[in-house]
Amino acid sequence: MRFTRLRLTGFKSFVDPTDLVIADGLTGVVGPNGCGKSNLLEALRWVMGENRPTAMRGGGMEDVIFAGTATRGAKNFAEVSLAIDNGQRLAPAGFNDSDTLDIVRRITRDAGSAFKVNAKDVRARDVQMLFADASTGAQSPALVRQGQISELINAKPKARRRILEDAAGIAGLYQRRHEAELK
Ligand code: ATP
Ligand code: MG
Repeated sequence: MRFTRLRLTGFKSFVDPTDLVIADGLTGVVGPNGCGKSNLLEALRWVMGENRPTAMRGGGMEDVIFAGTATRGAKNFAEVSLAIDNGQRLAPAGFNDSDTLDIVRRITRDAGSAFKVNAKDVRARDVQMLFADASTGAQSPALVRQGQISELINAKPKARRRILEDAAGIAGLYQRRHEAELK
């Protein structure tokens, strides 16, 4: 599975629809401080099901919606869509009937957020499990936040074990076991 396109509308500083084609190989994002580089990674994390406002550098989930500037009014919603090449049919069961996965998350003020996969409504959990099984989830070590390296160095053994489990691709199983224990 490979990310092929990221599209943002009203997400943080990306007020106008912005389409980023993610080509094969290494992609670099460069620009001056404050231009939105970290916001792009946050968009990726968010569309994969991140639900902790702190991971998005916000106080509440609605803080991802464009808040307005001196010259432009605030937006009422934010939407991020992520296209994934699934030509090799490596997506987990239930998501494996097409060559492309189109994942969309939209948040509307006072109405919460909703997810779609290939235009079908799904739960946040479905999207989180899809990525947990593919070892690329919102909290996956594949995404390294600014300052995260020093956090890793200081991490407790339990937290470090979770990182290894995620890298080994068993985070989804761990989550399912946890849910089974709660039932
Ligand atoms: P650096 O090089 O310093 O790490 P960066 O390119 O990573 O910078 P970001 O942190 O992605 O920059 O972008 C910060 C910008 O995004 C700030 O100008 C901030 O005002 C803007 N921003 C964040 N949230 C919102 C929001 N909800 N509405 C409008 N603008 C926002
Ligand atoms: Mg940054």
